[in-house]
Amino acid sequence: MTELNRLTIAAASAGLAKGEFSARELTQSCVDAMDERSDLGAFITPTPDLALEAADQADAKRKGGEDAPLLGIPLGIKDLFCTEGVQTTAASKILQGFVPTYESSVTTNLLRDGAVFLGKLNLDEFAMGSSNTTSYYGNVVNPWQSASKPDMQLVPGGSSGGSASAVAARLCLGATGTDTGGSIRQPAAFCGITGLKPTYGRCSRWGIVAFASSLDQAGPMARSVEDCAILLGSMAGFDAKDTTSVDTPVPDYTAELGAGVKGLKIGLPREYRVDRMPAEIEQLWQQSAQWLRDQGAEVVEISLPHTHSALPAYYIVAPAEASSNLARYDGVRYGFRADAPDGLPEFSSLEDMYATTRGEGFGAEVQRRIMIGAYVLSAGYYDAYYNKARRVRSLIARDFTEAFEQVDAILTPTTPSAAFGITEEPSGVEMYMNDVFTVPASMAGIPGISLPAGLSSDGLPLGVQLLGRPFDEEGLLRVAQALEDAAGFTATPQLMA
Ligand code: GLN
Repeated sequence: MTELNRLTIAAASAGLAKGEFSARELTQSCVDAMDERSDLGAFITPTPDLALEAADQADAKRKGGEDAPLLGIPLGIKDLFCTEGVQTTAASKILQGFVPTYESSVTTNLLRDGAVFLGKLNLDEFAMGSSNTTSYYGNVVNPWQSASKPDMQLVPGGSSGGSASAVAARLCLGATGTDTGGSIRQPAAFCGITGLKPTYGRCSRWGIVAFASSLDQAGPMARSVEDCAILLGSMAGFDAKDTTSVDTPVPDYTAELGAGVKGLKIGLPREYRVDRMPAEIEQLWQQSAQWLRDQGAEVVEISLPHTHSALPAYYIVAPAEASSNLARYDGVRYGFRADAPDGLPEFSSLEDMYATTRGEGFGAEVQRRIMIGAYVLSAGYYDAYYNKARRVRSLIARDFTEAFEQVDAILTPTTPSAAFGITEEPSGVEMYMNDVFTVPASMAGIPGISLPAGLSSDGLPLGVQLLGRPFDEEGLLRVAQALEDAAGFTATPQLMA
């Protein structure tokens, strides 16, 4: 039998329905793969026993004649989603040992639909990063290797690096991710999988550890467009517990997948180019446009004039909101509290306890963002920075609104490079440049999907991104399916350690 963990969700569901294998067998194959590739560091908290128990329950339900969209499908959960009774860390020391007494709305929806959870996936600390090297629980490794330096460990991208690495290495059939400025799409591109950031408000944020509340959005990561459609159908939905959740019906996202792109208009924004972008990224972008043209789409050049302002504005808005959201980690309410200094029984003051706990509990990148955020929100600078960034944000959103009067979807590269080495990681602003093509859609709140379209000359996956109208995930998935069919991306990383 083919290794069950390598099946897509759609294929595994069909196999389960026909009784070709059980949910326990399927889950066991994932658990075996997780053991085999623990070197990837993809999981912070694997929960194999709970998973096998849940798989048995799924098998029993199926025997009793029940069915559900994800009955018996093993998934990984980014460790930013609170899971009842299972440690939730956000990859931070400050949340070590935090065991939520509640379940996030998105994971509740997945459980309602029969999913089996394999455990909690690694990420950048508090989802801040593009390389998954800021986790307190260690780096995540990309299962792909480059042809020229096969011994060099590559980053999986971030912040949903554990999700991307686990899905690419076939440790799970699909995973949840979250995307604030690109954290689903960029790691999907680096690991050769498909990841969808829905419209802001489509999936509930309730029970997800907050980074930047006006940008955070949960979404699916999987090995096909169809699998993302299946997962989104389960994850999405109105939730009264999230005041920014939008009450609009959840369609069957798989229904329109085969509808093709004939007669659709696709825009290529001329601003989506950066200095030193490798020629092969431009080529793959043009090739992808040609694939859509070949299937009957009309491809036109468009302009999104405020693109260049998106990244600087994001790095004001996101840290500002983060500094406010992270104020709650004070050593009193959650997880970690520092010890009093030098064997003293207690701290000299409450403030001393806060400061020591936060100094020891947060990593360097998180501290940097808290400081930037506190600065741009401070009395003398609020107008100059934060309010200005908010105005820029409106302009970015308006660019997209105007573009979607002309075109049905927008096609861009996902990232300006392929995955880089863990040790050759760029620093500071250069690292922030990774998100240059993903951040604008986050600022505008519109949906975006990244799918693998080809390999770099060095044998690494490259992604292309499609952006769509707010709440038109159906249309976006339909174009993505057409592109997936044309690209015929079947390469896989080496699956054994
Ligand atoms: N890399 C970006 C950042 O560090 C985006 C992260 C994300 O989307 N969570 O802010």
